[in-house]
Amino acid sequence: MKQNLLKKLTRPKKSHLTLAIVLCFVLFNFSCKKLGVIDPLKDHNSSPGPKNEPAPSLVEYNFDNDSNSGLMFQDGESMALLTSEARRYEIGKVLRVKAVDTTTIEVANFAPVDILDATILLTIEGQAKPIKLFRVGKIRAHAIKVIPYSFIKGSTKFINTDNQVVDLVQYKTTGIPTNKVSFDFTGTTDLIIKLKSLAKLKWKVKYQDFDPTDNPKDNWKDNIDARDVRRFTGLMINLAYMLQADTTQKVFLAEPITDNNKVLMTTAQKQQAFNSILDIPKFNCGVVVNVSGLGGGSTYGLADYLLVKYMTKNICFEAVHEIGHMVGFSHSSSMTYPSSDNRGAVVATGNVYLMMIAKGLLPIKTSNYYKPSDL
Ligand SMILES: [Zn+2]
Repeated sequence: MKQNLLKKLTRPKKSHLTLAIVLCFVLFNFSCKKLGVIDPLKDHNSSPGPKNEPAPSLVEYNFDNDSNSGLMFQDGESMALLTSEARRYEIGKVLRVKAVDTTTIEVANFAPVDILDATILLTIEGQAKPIKLFRVGKIRAHAIKVIPYSFIKGSTKFINTDNQVVDLVQYKTTGIPTNKVSFDFTGTTDLIIKLKSLAKLKWKVKYQDFDPTDNPKDNWKDNIDARDVRRFTGLMINLAYMLQADTTQKVFLAEPITDNNKVLMTTAQKQQAFNSILDIPKFNCGVVVNVSGLGGGSTYGLADYLLVKYMTKNICFEAVHEIGHMVGFSHSSSMTYPSSDNRGAVVATGNVYLMMIAKGLLPIKTSNYYKPSDL
């Protein structure tokens, strides 16, 4: 080895030149890679920090196997966990990050599909712009994982959504109080854009066993199981996706729909009804038996057969019917049942849902749903 090195060092001048060129090339390449990260900073005049300081690079995580993540809603999971309030999520944030304590966060995917290439954003109270906290290369369907903030052990420098460097050094030892942080996700893939569009709805969803005493006389399934919940997570996404579409609002407003007194609603009244659907604050989802659905207040029950067919068939006659009840409409209104001439909310929304199936637009499909045995 030593001899070899000596040889290299005593090479003639020409080789020195070659070496220098190679070295320059390597360095240039290296800087190019770094520049890839800095790029956004370059065009930003107000970016702080001394010249030539490398831009903070985004930490990447994968939650794609049993060694780097657990799974929610798996067979055998306890009813308490399956239906816990801790498992409530916003429909607009199915990739949910929440603070566990001042130094750790929980990352969870409430969609029954893998999500790739997401960026997690952190907003700290008092800061104008969210920070790009980390990148998710892949998070598998229903994956869940608690991780420490990367700045506790790693770099404290991050880039915000205005591409300015933000230093979180003040939180390195103390962490950040949980009540001062909020999280969101972003990305440019087709799936992420669709999932993000659900933020138009205010729904906070969880799953519930409405029959804890196993009363044989009611219409609730005695014990909901993990498979019910897995399927339901996809149904809620598809239903919300249909409702957020501009097309849906357009056809809804154009549709003749009657109120509880069987009187045709005005466009303003229909707009109000539509808005109240988007603004339903809570969905407690359960599974019904003997009937197609049960709905009212924040209770949202659907029959097993709907949890099976929502990726390939229209579910609006039942799914939107129950939502009609949740926003205050009775069976006298065509917000729940179609009118005698087959018009009403469930007809209008059903047509859009069918169009979305036909065009392959719904976010959750048989081709990306993670557990084929559920279908
Ligand atoms: Zn009904």
